Amino acid sequence: MSSRTYAILGIVALAFVVLGILFTVETWVECPHCDGRGYNTRKMTCPQCNGEGTVVVEKKQVCPTCDGTGRILGGLFTCTRCKGTGWIYVTEIETCPKCQGSGYVTVKDTCPYCNGRGGKSVSLWEAWFGG
Ligand SMILES: [Zn+2]
Ligand SMILES: [Zn+2]
Ligand SMILES: [Zn+2]
Repeated sequence: MSSRTYAILGIVALAFVVLGILFTVETWVECPHCDGRGYNTRKMTCPQCNGEGTVVVEKKQVCPTCDGTGRILGGLFTCTRCKGTGWIYVTEIETCPKCQGSGYVTVKDTCPYCNGRGGKSVSLWEAWFGG
């Protein structure tokens, strides 16, 4: 055989080695649907405040009329403001603690394309030339 034949055989052998590597070596391919995170974020109306950004909270306070004693005028009368309980309830509008007032929350959805794994392990061949 001529040296030219040897050269061709060498190239063919090398090609097989390269192909073998391409098919056996695995590489991690990030899922294009979730940028490799395994989940996608989605904005959703805050369930706690229905998107208002504020919530009404009821707070228990010591009745300022009777100072929490439930009695007024030296104990002669029952305090009408707190009906003798010594406590009053005040409603206050506060920034929604769940959404920090933005009215929406971000939820994570597991990526259905990669089942939350963020990608898959494929051969180099598949990664470069498509499976
Ligand atoms: Zn994905
Ligand atoms: Zn009172
Ligand atoms: Zn909220």
